[in-house]
Amino acid sequence: MSEPRLRAKELDAADGLAAQRAEFLLDEGGGGSGGEAVYLDGNSLGALPAAVPGRLEDVVRRQWGELRIRSWTEEGWWTAPERIGDRIAPLVGAAAGQIVVGDSTSVNVFKAVVGAVRLARSADTAAGPVGSAGPVRDEIVVDATTFPTDGYIAESAARMTGCTLRPVPPSGVPDALGDRTAAVLLNHVDYRTGRLHDLPALTAAVHAAGAYVVWDLCHSAGALPVGLDEHGVDLAVGCTYKYLNGGPGSPAYLYVRAELQDRFDSPLPGWNSHAEPFGMRPEYAPAPGALRGRVGTPDILSMLALEAALDVWDGGVTIEAVRAKSLALTDFFLECVEAYVPEGRVECLTPRAHGERGSQIALRCPDAGDVMKRLIERGVVGDFRHPDVLRFGFTPLYVGFADVERAARVLADVLAEPGT
Ligand SMILES: *Cc1c(COP(=O)(O)O)cnc(C)c1O
Repeated sequence: MSEPRLRAKELDAADGLAAQRAEFLLDEGGGGSGGEAVYLDGNSLGALPAAVPGRLEDVVRRQWGELRIRSWTEEGWWTAPERIGDRIAPLVGAAAGQIVVGDSTSVNVFKAVVGAVRLARSADTAAGPVGSAGPVRDEIVVDATTFPTDGYIAESAARMTGCTLRPVPPSGVPDALGDRTAAVLLNHVDYRTGRLHDLPALTAAVHAAGAYVVWDLCHSAGALPVGLDEHGVDLAVGCTYKYLNGGPGSPAYLYVRAELQDRFDSPLPGWNSHAEPFGMRPEYAPAPGALRGRVGTPDILSMLALEAALDVWDGGVTIEAVRAKSLALTDFFLECVEAYVPEGRVECLTPRAHGERGSQIALRCPDAGDVMKRLIERGVVGDFRHPDVLRFGFTPLYVGFADVERAARVLADVLAEPGT
């Protein structure tokens, strides 16, 4: 047995999270050519937790089919957005009462960015002496390397609020800030390269400029500690179908820091965020707390599938243990790639430093699209990002070290084939 294969055995034997794999339905002996598929795409769509099918069956047949309208109260449908928000909260370092689940990440980016601009302006009005306008905060700074949807929405939010949009790479954000900055929208982990940005330092820099920060946690929540409360983050959003395994299109979430909730003025006030939803009043009055982030009727089937998916975090799984294994998996993958793949054939875009690495490895090679197709044919599932990036996501709850070794070995085989 090769050296990396032996190492994988040892690492798997010592893995305190190895038992968590049984909480997921993964193909045993089914995928690829002979044997189970190695699933390294949990950063795009998390695998199916074993608790979900049974829960959905109950939600559909009994709650919807038999109890029907009664389930809104008797089965807790109405309060699901804040109840499930409170279950996500410990994973991102938030105390209860600050997260609501609902809508897509894109929609929550809109609520958060417009909300942040309004917070910045209401703060200036409150602080300035009577009759003085104070500085005009009319700039939104956006991560120039952001996942596209955040950029599109920030641009529209800027037009709607009379702001100028300034795209800046995260490292350049501190220098771009000033007394005109209203809001800053950043990705915690770069979806392409897997680079982890310095949330504490960037948050502090935004605050020093008197502006408000919105963090997009899509590629960090469920993979590494975020520390929203500890670092004084103002607003945050994230999806639940990547490392939180909520299922395709499962609802996203919005975090509004407790001290800001009274001033948070959502650009999408709906009857679900009204202080008295069943009062059916013509005039809007916002609900207190995180509920202000709600809009309309929640997507109950997806929402409750997500709730069942979050059961995998019960029973003592900590985000710190998940992070430690994630770093060990990505370290080991890089080690195996170095051992198996001829030097210079691929270029690693993900930083080596643990403090700058998310839970994925991105490798660049000119024929990446074709290489990924062949990898998938052989049961190693990652994904391709235009124009030349191979992405491998490592979900510590169900990926093991033998999977990692096999993925690197198959990658080396594919790269050695003629025609690639
Ligand atoms: C996955 C992802 C999204 C997805 O947005 P949706 O509205 O859920 O489609 C947004 N932002 C980032 C940074 C992402 O990684």
